[in-house]
Amino acid sequence: MVRLRVYGADGKLSPARDMPKVELSDAEWKKRLTPEQFRITRGKGTEQAFCGGLLNNKGEGVYVCVDCNLPLYRSNAKFESGTGWPSFYEPVAKENVHEEADRTYGMVRTEILCARCDAHLGHVFDDGPPPTGMRHCLNSESLKFVPNEQLASIAEPAGAATAPATKPAATAPATKPSAASPRTGSAQAEVVFAGGCFWCVEAVFEELEGVKEVVSGYAGGSAATANYEAVCTGDTGHAEAVKIVYDPNKVSYEQLLKVHFATHDPTSLNRQGNDAGTQYRSAIFYANDQERQLAAAFIADVTASKAFNKPIVTTLEPLKQFFPAEAYHQNFVCRNPNQGYVRAIALPKVEKVREKFKAMIKVGGENRAP
Ligand SMILES: [Zn+2]
Repeated sequence: MVRLRVYGADGKLSPARDMPKVELSDAEWKKRLTPEQFRITRGKGTEQAFCGGLLNNKGEGVYVCVDCNLPLYRSNAKFESGTGWPSFYEPVAKENVHEEADRTYGMVRTEILCARCDAHLGHVFDDGPPPTGMRHCLNSESLKFVPNEQLASIAEPAGAATAPATKPAATAPATKPSAASPRTGSAQAEVVFAGGCFWCVEAVFEELEGVKEVVSGYAGGSAATANYEAVCTGDTGHAEAVKIVYDPNKVSYEQLLKVHFATHDPTSLNRQGNDAGTQYRSAIFYANDQERQLAAAFIADVTASKAFNKPIVTTLEPLKQFFPAEAYHQNFVCRNPNQGYVRAIALPKVEKVREKFKAMIKVGGENRAP
């Protein structure tokens, strides 16, 4: 048991109450979390500075633990620290954020963890602004943002003004405590698309609401040659591709196809702009027959609509395996906003998706790339 404060149906924080901890095996966490969320919250990882989706989020509401939904920080304690990570001068309740000495990397730091599920959140430093002078330095990936108007979605029975045990059960509909079901709508699907340089394709899809993670990598060839140097020769069969992990309740496969076709040229054979070679081909890698049929129907529709004045050359290929690319290719655009190619080619594509698909852009997403 641990003493915690949670939100009740009245949208108010409860007094501190003894509540059960959330303890799951690594295998169970892996089922609930994206690989990046697992790496950071369960493996004490750190996201790339300036690349987190919540860094510049200015919405009013509460930041909860991505693993167990425990409220951790309020938007009114968020400040611009210039560090590249979301920063807060105090937690929503001191009970909810646990501090522990961290002596890794030859430094003495104070790690902060979710008090209910032990998710790694980040570190706390004493160089913050008034009134506390503290800087809670967070990973966006450890958090989920809940706008004020949606606070009811994180209400828990333990947050009721009266302790639940003393309340007649009939007055409230039976809702599972969130400890038992930490993530609502945890449905998750993956697709693999190719459309030229993966830096650009990754940056475009990172913008979309419902997209949880985009990984740059290689598809269409074998494991032996799934590395940048080999793929660059154009002889390995691989295409530079991205794996998009998404919530099908929030964004559909067809919407992803639509964005893909609007942000690269599907009529350009083995070439996007100056990038030429089969590794830059336009391709959809399908994982099953349903995806193959949907993609084929989509291409037939686009062809029939005459949206392009040349034939679509996008290939439909079975996804045998996706190989993540080297670490320095991941999040390349947001880590290298001033690089020449990024400025000339990638950022205009990001602008285009923000403009053309306004309604689909995620909260805070406008700040993933400058
Ligand atoms: Zn938690």
